[in-house]
Amino acid sequence: MLDIKALSAGYGPIHVLHDISLTVDPGEMVAVLGSNGAGKTTLFRALFGFADISAGELTFDGLDLRRTPPFRVARAGLVHVPEGRGLFPQMSVIENLMAPVYAQRSQRGRSGQPLNYHDDLDMVFELFPRLRDRRAQAAGTMSGGEQQMLAIARGLMARPKLLLLDEPSIGLAPKMVDDVFDRLHQIHDSKPDLALLIVEQSVADTLALCSRGYLLERGVIVSTGSSEELGGSATVEEAFLGTSQPLGQP
Ligand code: ATP
Repeated sequence: MLDIKALSAGYGPIHVLHDISLTVDPGEMVAVLGSNGAGKTTLFRALFGFADISAGELTFDGLDLRRTPPFRVARAGLVHVPEGRGLFPQMSVIENLMAPVYAQRSQRGRSGQPLNYHDDLDMVFELFPRLRDRRAQAAGTMSGGEQQMLAIARGLMARPKLLLLDEPSIGLAPKMVDDVFDRLHQIHDSKPDLALLIVEQSVADTLALCSRGYLLERGVIVSTGSSEELGGSATVEEAFLGTSQPLGQP
């Protein structure tokens, strides 16, 4: 479904990613591991045209991403939950959740079919009951963990085929990190057709969630394999030495 071939990208004269090839099939959970500055966020930015691409082919569900504007990419089902969450802090929980619905409605114009979002809302409230209780609260006043849950829930409201999650555990206490990963397991169980590409430094949690992954170091994929292989790999261990995250088998 997502096919990245020989991607090189960066920002103007700064070259960040070199010759990256990566695929995600429908329903697959795939990890991109990498320490700070490895180029994980840049990889996601490149998919939406927010980094300068100097070489490579990027396709999603048959769409050439290098020639498709970001809103069309999102409408095709490639949905990004950014690092730092990208919420509208002054807006309520429900307004944030409805943002993808309003965006789709305005793209379809007045003559478009009305969108039925009630089932989607029920689905996200079932996964994240606290959001139902806090629906009127301003997103910016929620705790870090709650904001992360809201960002994932908002991503789901956009009806993704592939959800791109950029470091969902960043800045969260260990208990909250566990909660976030529990929800991701739950999402995988309840939506087996939904694919997920997750970039993370929380190695053990991520490998326990995903079936396979890639290790990115200084903009280059230095290792790829099943989660079992990566969990036991000396290369992965070395890449993360000095971080607080314990490594381990999934
Ligand atoms: P982290 O885990 O710390 O978020 P990352 O793996 O997501 O890191 P990126 O944010 O993709 O890494 O950054 C990769 C490199 O690109 C870094 O050296 C960074 O300084 C550089 N970079 C990122 N954004 C820009 C930008 N807008 N202009 C110039 N250089 C940038």
